[in-house]
Amino acid sequence: MQDVVEKVYEQVVARNRGEAEFHQAVREVLESLGPVISKHPHYAEDGLLERIVEPERQIMFRVPWVDDAGAVHVNRGFRIEFNSALGPYKGGLRFHPSVNAGIIKFLGFEQIFKNALTGQGIGGGKGGSDFDPHGRSDAEVMRFCQSFMTELSRHIGPNTDVPAGDIGVGGREIGYLFGQYKRLRNSYDAGVLTGKGLAWGGSLARTEATGYGTVLFAQSMLATKGDSLEGKKIAVSGAGNVAIYAIEKAQQLGAKPITFSDSSGYVVDEAGVDLELLKQVKEVERGRVADYVARRPGARLVTEGRPWDVPVDVALPCATQNELDADSAASLLRNGCAVVAEGANMPCTPEAIEAFQAAGILYAPGKASNAGGVATSALEMEQNAGRTRWDFATAEAKLTGIMADIHDSCVEAAETYGRPGDYVLGANAAGFTRVADVMIAHGIV
Ligand code: NDP
Repeated sequence: MQDVVEKVYEQVVARNRGEAEFHQAVREVLESLGPVISKHPHYAEDGLLERIVEPERQIMFRVPWVDDAGAVHVNRGFRIEFNSALGPYKGGLRFHPSVNAGIIKFLGFEQIFKNALTGQGIGGGKGGSDFDPHGRSDAEVMRFCQSFMTELSRHIGPNTDVPAGDIGVGGREIGYLFGQYKRLRNSYDAGVLTGKGLAWGGSLARTEATGYGTVLFAQSMLATKGDSLEGKKIAVSGAGNVAIYAIEKAQQLGAKPITFSDSSGYVVDEAGVDLELLKQVKEVERGRVADYVARRPGARLVTEGRPWDVPVDVALPCATQNELDADSAASLLRNGCAVVAEGANMPCTPEAIEAFQAAGILYAPGKASNAGGVATSALEMEQNAGRTRWDFATAEAKLTGIMADIHDSCVEAAETYGRPGDYVLGANAAGFTRVADVMIAHGIV
């Protein structure tokens, strides 16, 4: 790292002690900025780098709620409003027991550059809670969401901060959160949340968008080599929103996804994933991956390790951060994997990324390849503001166009800064310069 960025990184570590994931996300971006700052030194002036790594606002709050047996629980809620240069803060809410300030901060920081890459008017933010929805009744989830929104509602709004879903927050949770917001504000502000149900302001293709976009990005990367996904074997991790729709789009493009996973293990289905069964188990029954195996002859459940030991051509990590480490990367490379596109946020460790780049395979960082979700959320906001609704084909065509533009911006920026084919540098440089130019225009704020 250059001296100027190294100093900023050291300050981040000193100021945000113990927040390892945040340090990791900042380091990755700052490392890419060396060639950008060398070419355009004004980006390091007026404390711009120091400002961009410091959230504009951090909110942390108590979330008390009562379970079905009458016991009181106290969770912790977060909203990090990181950067509003390009528009209202925008980013999902995560409900998972591992959530803490550092995890929300890393996600919010990534979101700034991802949202900039989409070319839409959205700033970066993220939120969530250490609440675990697994095994909770609908009534418990509803009471939790109502308590969470009672505080969050003071801080958000269609022109201020627009949350959405993430791990543990899907259509059910967004519904309860919206219902409580509407009750507290006495105002039907459809644009205050995205990922809404289709009957009350949601957008067609939003559910599919992150997974579809990730696969479209992988397809664009392969096209630069005159290749495509047709006939390729794919390992997918996760069995949630992103994983399911990555599998769907991959199948539509003629590829063969053969794995998926959740926190209880991973499934290998050499015949190709039965998507209808997977949706039934995960979306309808809220079951575990073992329930799929019980009903699918030939599929097997592996309860140790992750799916990266299975020989495939393409890997799509779609579960969570740091789920693909150096050993997993070595195993993928040994088996001839030639493409890795991140559906999740920061799923590959720095060592794994280094291994992919050293091997010269196609590797896409999540802030570029999974940006289709937030891009379609911005399309949802656009439809809400215009009190209109597009059909599926219109929304999907816009998503496809945005993913192609993000891919091309990454390629172009990587070439501009002297590292053709480096999608990490490309994504960070293109995202950063868009935000930085606007921060400069707005003065020191
Ligand atoms: P879901 O909650 O729908 O699914 C998450 C999946 O990942 C589940 O199968 C879950 O298994 C598994 N998982 C989560 N944490 C772990 C863990 N610690 N170890 C093993 N498995 C785990 O979330 P999404 O699909 O929405 O999100 C997945 C990833 O994609 C996240 O990194 C998220 O930030 C990112 N993302 C999501 C977007 C969206 O639009 N939803 C947009 C952009 C990025 P289990 O149920 O057993 O916990």
